[in-house]
Amino acid sequence: VNTTNAREHETAAILSTGDELLLGQLQDANARWLAESLTSRGVRVVEIGTVPDDLEALTGAIVRLSAVADVLVITGGLGPTDGDLTRAALCAAFGDSLVTDDAQVAALTEKLARRGRAVNEKQLRQTQRPSRARCLANAFGTAPGLVMEKAGGGLAIALPGPPNELHPMWRDCALGEIVGVRMVRTRLQFVVGVPEADLATMLKDMTGRDRVPLVGMTASAGIITIRQRCEGGLSVAAAEALLDADEAEIRRRVGRHVVATRQSGDEASHVVLASGVIARLAGRGWRIGVGESCTGGLLGSILTSVPGSSSAVAGGVIAYGNEVKTRLLGVRSEVIAAHGAVSTPVAEAMARGAMAATGAQVGVGITGIAGPGGATEGKAVGTVCVSVARVGAGGEVETDTREFSFPGTREDVRLRAAVSALAMVWFASGEGGGGGESGAAGSSPGPEVRGTHAGGFGGPRLLWQRVN
Ligand code: ATP
Ligand code: MG
Repeated sequence: VNTTNAREHETAAILSTGDELLLGQLQDANARWLAESLTSRGVRVVEIGTVPDDLEALTGAIVRLSAVADVLVITGGLGPTDGDLTRAALCAAFGDSLVTDDAQVAALTEKLARRGRAVNEKQLRQTQRPSRARCLANAFGTAPGLVMEKAGGGLAIALPGPPNELHPMWRDCALGEIVGVRMVRTRLQFVVGVPEADLATMLKDMTGRDRVPLVGMTASAGIITIRQRCEGGLSVAAAEALLDADEAEIRRRVGRHVVATRQSGDEASHVVLASGVIARLAGRGWRIGVGESCTGGLLGSILTSVPGSSSAVAGGVIAYGNEVKTRLLGVRSEVIAAHGAVSTPVAEAMARGAMAATGAQVGVGITGIAGPGGATEGKAVGTVCVSVARVGAGGEVETDTREFSFPGTREDVRLRAAVSALAMVWFASGEGGGGGESGAAGSSPGPEVRGTHAGGFGGPRLLWQRVN
C-alpha cells in the first residue's frame, strides 16, 4: 500500500457483493468492467473478491481488501432492502456509525415526488451514510454511492450494483477521486481471417514480454484482438509515438485483415467488427440486407447496435421456416427439397433473396443447425452455410458461399455464424464488385498473408470453414 502520498493510488481491489453472484445466477460484469477501467488509468488491480449478502462476510472482506490496495471499490448492496448491507459493513470495518444525510433525504424526496410517489421508511435507508463518508450522486437510481477514507489511508468507494447506474457514476463521480500514478496508453487492433498461430508467427519479434509497447493477442468468436500497451517511465507523447509506429507496422504485416482500431477496449469485438464493416459499406455507398435462419436476427441485431448503422443497413428477414425462405426470400422449394434447408444452394438463394427484398447492394444468407438438437445424417450440429451476394462490376449479382462447422453451444454457434458472415462481408466489400465502378474504394492493399485465398471475392479462408 502506498503511504508516501495520500493523493496517489497505485493499486486497487474490487469487491462484488450479492448472493446471486455466488449462486451462479449472475455473472460478475461489474468487476470485469471496473478492472479494465482502473487498469487503463494506471491503477493496478491486485485482487477481485466476491461475497454474499452477509454482514460478517462483507465486513471481513472490506477489512482484508483495504489492507492490500490503495483503493477499494465495492459494488452492490446499497439498495433499500434488508439484504443491502454495504453501508453497515463499511461502518463495522472502519469503526464508524450511520448518520442521515439531509441533502440526500431532500434529493430522494424530490426524485420520488417527480414519479408521483412518497418516500417510505425502507427507501430512507438509502439516505444513510457512515459519518465520515461523502455521498456520490446517482442520476439513474435512488441509491447514492459512498466514498470515504479507509483504515490505513486510501479510499473506499461503494457504488450500486446495476450496471446502468454504476457506469455513469463511476465515470462522472468516482474516477475523479482516484489518482492514477502511472501513465498508461493502449491501442487495440481487431483482425479477422488469420489463424491465431499464423498471426503469432507474423508478430513474433514484437511480442516479447519485456518489449515496449507490450503486444499481446486474444481471440474470441473468430476475431483476434491485438493489444498494445505502454506504461510508466515515458511521456504520453513518447508512448503515443511508439504505439503509432507499432500500429503502422502491424497494419503493414497484417494488411487487409485489420478491420478496426480502438484506443481502449470496453466494446465487444463482434460489435467492433460490425462497425468496421458498416464504415466500409458506407464508404462504397453500399447497403446490406440480411436473410437469417439459425441466427434468428442476431446478425441484424449486431449490425444495428452500431450507432449510425442506418447509413449502411437496409433491413432483413428472419426466415426460420422454409415457407418464409420461399415466400419472402424467393428460395425455390425445389432447391430446399433437393439439398435440404441447411445447404449452400439455399444459403446462396437466401443471400440473393435478401439483397433483392431489401434493394441492397450486398445480401447475406445464413442457414444452419445451432443445436443442441436437429442434427441429421451428414449434417452435424454446428453446420452452418453462409452466403454473401454483392452487385458485380457489370451490375450482375456475384456470390461467395461457404460451409462452416462451428463448435460449442447453441449461443456459440449462432454468434460464430454471425461473426463469420460479418467477416465475409468485410472481404466482399473491400475490392471488386460495384455495378460498373469496379474497385471504387478498395481496402488499403497490405502484403498478402500466405496461402489464404480460399474464399470467394479473394477473401481468406476463415476459422472453422470447411474445405471441400
Ligand atoms: P439496488 O438499489 O438496485 O438494490 P444495489 O446497490 O443494492 O442496487 P444489488 O442489489 O447488489 O445492488 O444489485 C442489484 C442488481 O444489479 C442485481 O440484481 C443485478 O442485476 C445487478 N448487479 C449487481 N451486481 C452485479 C455485478 N457484479 N455484475 C453485474 N450485474 C450486477
Ligand atoms: Mg439491492
